[in-house]
Amino acid sequence: MKMMAAVMHGPNDVRYEEVDRPACPPGGFLLKVMAVGLCGSDIRNLSCDSMQGVYPHIYGHEVVGYVEEADPTVTRVSVGDRVFIHPAIHCMRCESCISGHSEACQNTEVKKPASAQGGFADYMPIPKNQVDHGYIFKIPEGISFEQATLGEPISSVYTCLEKINVKLNDIVVIIGAGTIGYFLARLSKMRGAKTVIMVEINGERLKKAREFGADYTVNSREEDPIQKIKELTGGRGADKVISANPSTASQAQSIFMARPGGIVVFFGGVPKGALTELDTNHIHYNNLWIYGHYASNGTAIKNAFDLAVSKDFPADQFISRVMPLSQINEAIRLTRTSDVVKIVLKPNC
Ligand SMILES: [Zn+2]
Ligand SMILES: [Zn+2]
Repeated sequence: MKMMAAVMHGPNDVRYEEVDRPACPPGGFLLKVMAVGLCGSDIRNLSCDSMQGVYPHIYGHEVVGYVEEADPTVTRVSVGDRVFIHPAIHCMRCESCISGHSEACQNTEVKKPASAQGGFADYMPIPKNQVDHGYIFKIPEGISFEQATLGEPISSVYTCLEKINVKLNDIVVIIGAGTIGYFLARLSKMRGAKTVIMVEINGERLKKAREFGADYTVNSREEDPIQKIKELTGGRGADKVISANPSTASQAQSIFMARPGGIVVFFGGVPKGALTELDTNHIHYNNLWIYGHYASNGTAIKNAFDLAVSKDFPADQFISRVMPLSQINEAIRLTRTSDVVKIVLKPNC
């Protein structure tokens, strides 16, 4: 049998075309993909030689849909269930997993190979490993497939804010008004932050940040962001500073925006091999705590999904457009502009 998919044939070469429909994997199930979020990392992967010459490949990791067909041994889901599939698979047996840090699971045996098919397709195979060790949740009645896709992008943001305990009365600086920056702003306010200050070089994106709870915005192209943060905080600095963009300059500046004893997080990755010059004396004498952040542990994945599918979560603010999967190239183009926060793609339409 055949299906339609958005297939990557090389850097910047994505074709919506007919391919073989995957079979129901032994011990697993076949998902009929009903919605799949287009993530910044997808766009990055689709634009460079991310699979190192091994093409064709199908990306897509913010996936929801119907269980179309299941191996008889599968008891976790039933045919017809509406489910969310988080891409992470953790063994829950290694040292990292049992200490509550499953995001650092070292057990590669449970992981999917990089070549595994993703969700930019009508159907996606969910292998036995994922049924046994993955995060598969039923979508509550009355919640749309589109909204449920947000469970994946929220998971990493949720984990970061939990880790640094953003709380009542905090002053939080977020550098980078991208999709993740908007999630960080909204969730920081939900956790009780008194003031959220967004720093960004793009005026359009900065303007939009207000919709996501930013109390102040600073255009770092027009004014010195360190000076401005000092001004806005009465000379004190922020309790928490999160650098959520790919710039080493932003990381270098971020430590001067925190108050003595404050916390700085490097959320966004920078280009491979790029090094950041840090004034470690400033870190030392001001008792700053520096964190790296990437991925999510299992508890956070579950909590983030519950938040994403709760009735009062403002999903519509984040989902700028819903487009058919066939228009993925247009969706990529639009996501690169500042008018779009997030696009959700619909296969099978
Ligand atoms: Zn994502
Ligand atoms: Zn593990």
